[in-house]
Amino acid sequence: MIDADRLDELLTRLRLTAIRDQLDSLLDEASRAQMTLREALLFLAEREVARRDTRRIQMGMKLARFPCVRTLEGFDFDAQPSIDPGQIRDLSSGRWIGHGQALLLLGPPGVGKTHLAVALGREAVDRGYTVLFTSAAALMAGLTKAHADGRLEEKLLQLSKPKLLIIDELGYLPLEPAAAHLFFQLVSRRYERASMLITSNRPVGEWGQVFGDAVAATAILDRLLHHSQVITIRGDSYRLRDKRRSGLLQKAAAPTPITSES
Ligand code: ADP
Ligand code: MG
Repeated sequence: MIDADRLDELLTRLRLTAIRDQLDSLLDEASRAQMTLREALLFLAEREVARRDTRRIQMGMKLARFPCVRTLEGFDFDAQPSIDPGQIRDLSSGRWIGHGQALLLLGPPGVGKTHLAVALGREAVDRGYTVLFTSAAALMAGLTKAHADGRLEEKLLQLSKPKLLIIDELGYLPLEPAAAHLFFQLVSRRYERASMLITSNRPVGEWGQVFGDAVAATAILDRLLHHSQVITIRGDSYRLRDKRRSGLLQKAAAPTPITSES
């Protein structure tokens, strides 16, 4: 006679909670399939690992604070010929994150920058990387406040932890020169150690204006572009597509030219 309580206790101590919680049904399944002991052990171990992976991914998605759910499967590459699907597929492997590289997604509003940033962030979480998503405005406000409160070091440490920091919408609002300097400190902290994915509607040539400080912008770009990929998306807003189709809007005469540097 097996002492069920004892087994429960041991599985708990070993933290094999998936096996513990479904023990009866798993053992039934194993015996119905006439598994050998070795096969049954493999079957149980696989269930345990599968649940841990699921939990880890759920937790990682929560910690990443994505503003919305967007996936690569949901991205219509045909609608966006300026993007190379092969390059995005390669980025989804997360190798660039392993190497601490940077990724810049540039282009006018509505062309899918945030969509791709979130989708690549989700792929990174799936692959076990820690990710944090923030808007540039919230990031700068947080840095400025931490600085004013004498907690800058703490804040920089916190922002250095995730393997991938996604900063969305850099350049929509011009930054205070003080914020540019704080941002430079963040970039230096993460440089060559952890990745950054930045989206911006401004080409890097205009980042001097964005940061309100040409020297800071040069120093920031120097580090960001050193090991980086820059993807410049062209074309019309995907948001306005349907409206354009229905004749509500004229098709834009020519997309805004954006320079690419890498
Ligand atoms: P951006 O950040 O460049 O301003 P978004 O990524 O927010 O643009 O895209 C605007 C909306 O259009 C989002 O809902 C996004 O999911 C959708 N979208 C943009 N491009 C595509 C695309 N190629 N395929 C599918 N949805 C797209
Ligand atoms: Mg966006």
